[in-house]
Amino acid sequence: SSFFGDIEMAPPIEVFNLTRQYNEDPNSKKYNLGVGAYRTNDGKPWVLPVVRTVEAQMATDETLNHEYLPVAGMPDFRKEAIKLLLGENCSAIVENRVEGVQAIGGTGAIRVCANFCKKILNFDNMYTSNPTWGNHMGIFKACGFSNVKQYRYWNAETRSIDFEGMIEDLGAAPDKTVVILHGCCHNPTGVNPNKDQWRQIIDLVIEKKFMVLLDEAYQGFATGDLDADGWTARYLVERGLEFFVSQSFSKNFGLYNERIGNLVIVCANSDVKVKVRSQMEMIVRTTWSNSPNHGARIVATVLNNAATLDEWKNNVKEMATRIILMRKMLKEKLSALGTPGSWDHITNQTGMFSFTGLNPSQVDVLTKKYHIYLLKNGRINMCALTTHNIDYIAEAIHHAVT
Ligand code: PMP
Repeated sequence: SSFFGDIEMAPPIEVFNLTRQYNEDPNSKKYNLGVGAYRTNDGKPWVLPVVRTVEAQMATDETLNHEYLPVAGMPDFRKEAIKLLLGENCSAIVENRVEGVQAIGGTGAIRVCANFCKKILNFDNMYTSNPTWGNHMGIFKACGFSNVKQYRYWNAETRSIDFEGMIEDLGAAPDKTVVILHGCCHNPTGVNPNKDQWRQIIDLVIEKKFMVLLDEAYQGFATGDLDADGWTARYLVERGLEFFVSQSFSKNFGLYNERIGNLVIVCANSDVKVKVRSQMEMIVRTTWSNSPNHGARIVATVLNNAATLDEWKNNVKEMATRIILMRKMLKEKLSALGTPGSWDHITNQTGMFSFTGLNPSQVDVLTKKYHIYLLKNGRINMCALTTHNIDYIAEAIHHAVT
């Protein structure tokens, strides 16, 4: 007998399950458009050149060691990450009312935020977009939120934002609600509110006293310009909000498995900031006790030095530019093939993903017949497309649709 004998199998995690199926597919002509990681035009993972350089320096720097970091994480990393997000001259930084807590990836930042909102602030409701990144709801439920809901966001007919639906659903949300908003590059739709819509959303946030968690996992991937992509967080500061931002450096530094993130807390003043930090430290202490060094050191070193910062910005620009080119090419190929429907949404969307509008049976055809793996909801990773495979993939989409 076993303590574990009666346990039910947990459901598979879609995106990792997809990679497993892809790996097991014996066909040599197969493409994985599922997992959200950057690929070069040769379909390979990319260690950013600036990261290689800094890692090489770190390896021989005898002033570095493996002592524990402070509980809230590496001070230089947190400081530089905040500057990157909000801009150096941000009033909240000048007024010393922004805190950063280093976290195990963007996921860890969201987790610490959810824990804090539940335990310390007594929030019990969380609203996130429909659809959203597959982990938002799970994290908040795991932290004890009893009311976890989704607001309308995607209009399948227009393949753009359902703004009226979003405002209506948020307008009906109860008091003490945490609202998750994606700062840029919405995952999975690639669609974000425009500036006027942001103004209306924040009007509502202020009126309803919502707590905002801005999920910022792709800064730089929309336009290739980190400041332009950081607009949303800066706008929230301008509107005078107190809010959270979960920052991830998985994508824009290509540091996926180093698990490096930062939870930014913009507070009303520096007195409350000190109290917030002390409670955050308690949460980190009982969760992972102390953050890992490697990713934080890389990010801090790169951001802290004008030459490496510049090099990194060029690396980010290169990734964003390749994605934008793939969007353009895919749309052109589908138009040239005469694939039914409008494909303008592919170039209107931003970030790593495109929400193609392909339905589950079309997705099935792509996978079974063409060995192209993508999420059931039709999301594709634009970086998985290359100038070598785009003809094959466009033709497969054409056949799946017609
Ligand atoms: N939020 C969103 C919207 C994401 O897409 C991701 C990564 N897929 C994360 C958070 C988590 O990022 P990390 O891998 O750094 O935990």
